Amino acid sequence: MLSWDDETASAPAARPVAPSAAVAGAVAGAVAGAVAGAVAGTVAGAVAGTEPAADAVAVAKRVHADDKRIINGKTDVNQLVPFKYKWAWDKYLAGCANHWMPQEVNMQRDIELWKNPNGLTDDERRLVKRNLGFFVTADSLAANNIVLGTYRHITAPECRQYLLRQAFEEAIHTHAYQYIVESLGLDEAEIFNAYNEVKSIRDKDEFLIPFINTLTDPAFTTGTVENDQKLLKSLIVFACLMEGLFFYVGFTQILALGRQNKMMGAAEQYQYILRDESMHCNFGIDLINTIKMENPLLWTPAFREEIKALFLQAVDLEYAYAEDTMPRGVLGLNATMFKGYLRFIANRRAQQIGLDALFAHEENPFPWMSEMIDLKKERNFFETRVTEYQTGGALNWE
Ligand code: FE
Repeated sequence: MLSWDDETASAPAARPVAPSAAVAGAVAGAVAGAVAGAVAGTVAGAVAGTEPAADAVAVAKRVHADDKRIINGKTDVNQLVPFKYKWAWDKYLAGCANHWMPQEVNMQRDIELWKNPNGLTDDERRLVKRNLGFFVTADSLAANNIVLGTYRHITAPECRQYLLRQAFEEAIHTHAYQYIVESLGLDEAEIFNAYNEVKSIRDKDEFLIPFINTLTDPAFTTGTVENDQKLLKSLIVFACLMEGLFFYVGFTQILALGRQNKMMGAAEQYQYILRDESMHCNFGIDLINTIKMENPLLWTPAFREEIKALFLQAVDLEYAYAEDTMPRGVLGLNATMFKGYLRFIANRRAQQIGLDALFAHEENPFPWMSEMIDLKKERNFFETRVTEYQTGGALNWE
């Protein structure tokens, strides 16, 4: 079951981290031993005369799961197995099992409602456009952050495998938003430029962009405490504040429309996106917690204070976005309700990465959102279609 209310799903068991000098010594010792073995003619294939002898130095370089590290690892990133981070592989499999495509969702009722002058109020239309104005570029930011930034700094192939799946899901989400904009016949220039032209959206993106720039800077490498902290901070900003907080006003708004039988196609797309994003967030939190465990020196009191300040800033930015998208209250929602919701979510995210709650006594004002996150693909909440996904139907070997 996917839920950001879940405990961090797969907190890995604590294990001692071998100092790198010890690892180097072990490798050197193994190489020496293997070379000696080869000289003695003990490589089995050679003795049997069936296969040429494997190069002893190469054999000694075989990947051992215990030597893998999430960052600054020295093992071959091209070898997925032996697994060490099984939680990452499991999330990759779950992501594939949740596969969906935007054009599978019927948008006809949304189109009719949008074109009907009496179909939606002006406030509802503003909400939809401001909502899409954030999301049409948000997943491109997320995809570029993964592909051009995060991926190259992560040295565990299981995690890279998940990031590849996640990057494709970000592309599907951008496709879904574009598909909604196109279906409704919205002004594409207005919606796709909102992140430059609408202050509440631009402010969120300007908060994120320095953290993307850190990871995508070709000169940036990990390996020092300072730079490893920069990487960890960027991962926390993306998982906990971008995917884990900045998406939630927007998701709640469109799903609230769906609950009132409005924009059902868009709401169905957002349900699938929410399910994917919930997994991205949980993967990011597992990644962060494993890096913390493998590199405890990074989690200093000063670093934790810096992270708390970023959380508070992000809550303010998302609240400003809620006010801008709902200046008068709409759909039974108003910005004030989101103040409590955002504090509730921020507390949860902080606790998931080992920080204390930031706000006292915050409760979830939208418990129905948790049900949405728990969506099973074969049981669609809106009952608009059967959604069991099949692959391979279009293959023809003739
Ligand atoms: Fe995402």
